[in-house]
Amino acid sequence: MEYEALLERIRGGLGTARPAAARFELPPVDVMWEGQKTFLRNFAEYPKVLRRDPDKLLQYLSKEFAVPAERLGDKAMFIGKRAPDDFARLLKIYVKDYLECPTCKSPDTRAVRENRIPFLVCEACGARSALKGKYA
Ligand SMILES: [Zn+2]
Repeated sequence: MEYEALLERIRGGLGTARPAAARFELPPVDVMWEGQKTFLRNFAEYPKVLRRDPDKLLQYLSKEFAVPAERLGDKAMFIGKRAPDDFARLLKIYVKDYLECPTCKSPDTRAVRENRIPFLVCEACGARSALKGKYA
């Protein structure tokens, strides 16, 4: 019964066009604690998937957590103990604020700068929008 239901789910999932926003999936947060420090072990995956500057993303997380952070190779270290959910929540907000096209909701966007003003250029619909924050 369970197997049948699973098969049905798989069949149903194939060939079904998902909306652009759902196509985008963040890698699962991989966190390790050491004393009063939190290491985001797969930090480097995020800027790659998001196609954003790793330094800006780190600055963003550091500012939102209000703690110092540092990159150590592929990892990022944060002072204090943080739960994986804290990272997941912030990364989702980052996607919303710095990736999602306000016009069509596509995450396939590029952050560009003109006269030092950051813009979001959508590769799906071509819309250009102003970026509110400074961590693109
Ligand atoms: Zn768009």
